[in-house]
Order: sequence, then C-alpha cells, then structure tokens
Amino acid sequence: MDSHYDIAIIGLGCAGSHVLLELLSRTETRDLNIVVLDDFSRESMHKTWSYWERGAGKWDTLVSNTWQYAYFKNTDVDKKIDLKGYTYKSIDSPDFINHALEKATAFENVTFIKKPVLNCTVHDTFVTINYALGSCTASLVLDSRIDPDFFKKEDSITLDQHFKGWVIQSEQPVFETNAIVMMDYRLRDPGTTSFMYVLPHNAHTALVEFTYFSKKQVADSVYDDYMNQYIKDYLSIDSFKILHTEQGSIPMTAHDFAIYNKPLIHKIGTAGGWVKPSTGYSFKSSESKAAQLVSNYIAGRNLNQNLFSKKFRFYDAIMLDVLAEDNERGAAVFQNLYTKQPIENIFAFLDEETSFKQEIAIMLPLTSWPFIKFFFKRFSQLFKK
Ligand SMILES: Cc1cc2nc3c(=O)[nH]c(=O)nc-3n(C[C@H](O)[C@H](O)[C@H](O)COP(=O)(O)OP(=O)(O)OC[C@H]3O[C@@H](n4cnc5c(N)ncnc54)[C@H](O)[C@@H]3O)c2cc1C
Repeated sequence: MDSHYDIAIIGLGCAGSHVLLELLSRTETRDLNIVVLDDFSRESMHKTWSYWERGAGKWDTLVSNTWQYAYFKNTDVDKKIDLKGYTYKSIDSPDFINHALEKATAFENVTFIKKPVLNCTVHDTFVTINYALGSCTASLVLDSRIDPDFFKKEDSITLDQHFKGWVIQSEQPVFETNAIVMMDYRLRDPGTTSFMYVLPHNAHTALVEFTYFSKKQVADSVYDDYMNQYIKDYLSIDSFKILHTEQGSIPMTAHDFAIYNKPLIHKIGTAGGWVKPSTGYSFKSSESKAAQLVSNYIAGRNLNQNLFSKKFRFYDAIMLDVLAEDNERGAAVFQNLYTKQPIENIFAFLDEETSFKQEIAIMLPLTSWPFIKFFFKRFSQLFKK
C-alpha cells in the first residue's frame, strides 16, 4: 500500500523551502507527516536571490552579501540612493534550500523522495501522487509545478523578465562594494525595457546582468554582446574572467493563478502567482505568502485567503499593460519612480505595505495617456468578474 502523508510538497525550490520551514516552525504543524518530492537535479540552477528588507531579517545567517546604496543610471542621470532603513541582501539559492533540507532532516516525520512527480490524481479525501517508479498519497498537495495550461493561454503572460548574468572577476578593483546598480539604462536594446543590473561581491568581483522586461525574446549572443560592451565601455574593464553564469525568464503577469488550484491540490510559488508581477522578485513575497498559507491551513480557512491584494494586483496590471504597449517607455517610467520618490516609499509600495495616500503620490507622476487608458480598462474588468 502507498505511504500516506498529511501534506506533500512538490518542489523544494524557493516556495517549497519557505513552506517547509514555516510548517516546521509552528507547533500546530511541526508533527504532521510531510513528504517532499523533488528530483534535486538543480546543479545547474544556482541562482542569486536578492531582496530588500528593513534592518535584521530571518535569513541573515545565510546572506552572502549586503548593500546600503543603490544606483539608478540613465544617459542624463547618475543617482546614488541611500537605502536608509533598508538593506539590499543576497542569498545563494543552494544555501537557502540546503538550510531547509538540513532543518527538515532533524524531523523524523519529514520524508524526502528524490524523484520527479509525473502526475497527481484527486480522490474524495486524498490525492495519489505518481512519481518515477512509485506513488504515495497525501491529504493535501502543495505543488510548485506550473500548470501547462498557463503557457497555452494567449494572454496569461504580459511580459517576460528575461536575463543573463555573469559573475565576473576583474584584475583592477573597479566595483563600489556597498552599492548595487539597480537599473542602468545607458546601454539598452532599442525599443525595449532593458537595462544592466550590477551586484558587486567585492572590489574585483560582481554579478553583471543584462535584463529585459519585454515580450521580445533574444538570442544568447545578444545578452553576451551587451554585457561585453558594458564591461568594456561603462565599467572600463579590459580583462576579466567569468566565474559563473546565471540565466532565467520569469513571467510578469497579473494573471489569476487561483484557477489552477484543485480541491486538495494548491499551487505555490510561480505556479501559484507568488512572484510580484511588476518586479519579478519572489524571495520575500514567498516568505510572507508561506506564513499566511500555513496560518490559513491551521485555521481551516481557504488556503488563498489574504495571500493576494486585489488593489496591488490592479496597480501591477496597469504597470505591465503600459510597458507592454510601449516597451520603450520603461526607462522613463522607472527613472520617474527612482528619481522622484523616496526609496522607502518605493520599497514599501513594491512590498504592498503603503497607504492609499502614498500610492496616489507614487502613481500620479507616472500618469500618462496609456496609464489612464489602462487604468479604466482594468477598472472596468473588475466589475465584469
Ligand atoms: C537566475 C535567476 C535569478 C533570480 N534572481 C532572483 C532574485 O534576485 N530575487 C528574487 O526574489 N527572485 C529571483 N529569481 C526568481 C526566483 O528564482 C523565482 O521566482 C523562484 O525560484 C520561484 O520559486 P518556485 O518555488 O516557484 O520555483 P523554483 O524555485 O524554481 O522551484 C521549483 C522546484 O520544483 C521542482 N520541480 C519542478 N518540476 C518538478 C516535478 N515534476 N517533480 C518534483 N519537483 C519538481 C524543481 O526541481 C525546483 O526545485 C531569479 C530567478 C532566476 C532563474
């Protein structure tokens, strides 16, 4: 007979790790029988997960780098922003996942199955999970696999955040170690929202990443050409070594991911819409969503309750619509934001922690004809649902 578990977590990535750690941290859930299924074939999936937060945080012992300043650059702007009460932090993804693994290993009630899940079948009170060469059952499945229907729907993705980055080592000490470059629009692919993002590790080493918020996909060589040009012309580095490459594509969308939940199967992470649509960041939002989800589970509530704010999804949707219609506009929109608003308001807004008054202050300078058009389009959609 198949082994039965209270909860199955499919995928021990960003969301799965947050959920597992959260379940093990609560007295109400720490003794549940939990199974985690992942084939753990992520050798090539080393990512740098960066985020901002006020002061000390829950994962500080795992953090590899921190910064107190951020630059916003464009042809006529070079603004160094003091992050004030915030710190920008990075965690290497294997460090976070290994932390979850190590923590869970101390719990006899947590089982790991190192296999990819093939499919799940929902019965009245349980789910059968079929994985390569076996199966088990669970009362609830928390599933990080993106539903294939998501990619089939024509309008499910508004923009892609796609990027390639190199961790480079230069012979000369060129990097300012306490400042990241959030966005540098001096070099960009014409007609698109594209920019360079730089995370210094020390004076000689940094992640230099060319990023698009666009529908347009590009060949690998395009990122390489922009990075080579940036390193030579903007960082004035003649000779460097590539220590590591990271690459990815994150859907930027205000799509309603709740439609992929089934009775007893609940989507988490990217698959559940946990990525902030207008930024592509998800490490911190996964932390708070995992906490809310586990609270909902304990209270016997709908697992999605209070996970999403309709108001902020509305703002995200307008922002993405504006950038999708006129992709060139991104540099101006973000310049407006980063040069006119205090950074603490921007971070609070992106963390969905602002008051309506603060939101108006942020949105008003961004107002343009496309913004107004999409505001009313999205507003009317709210009443159609
Ligand atoms: C290169 C890169 C850099 C990034 N940088 C940042 C950043 O700086 N800050 C930030 O907030 N976000 C960043 N992101 C985005 C962030 O990584 C994702 O949003 C986040 O990982 C999504 O979490 P997730 O749990 O949904 O997916 P993942 O973290 O990808 O985890 C999914 C897990 O599911 C497993 N899985 C998949 N299919 C199966 C199956 N059939 N059976 C069993 N297991 C399965 C996979 O092995 C994986 O472990 C970055 C992304 C990339 C690619």
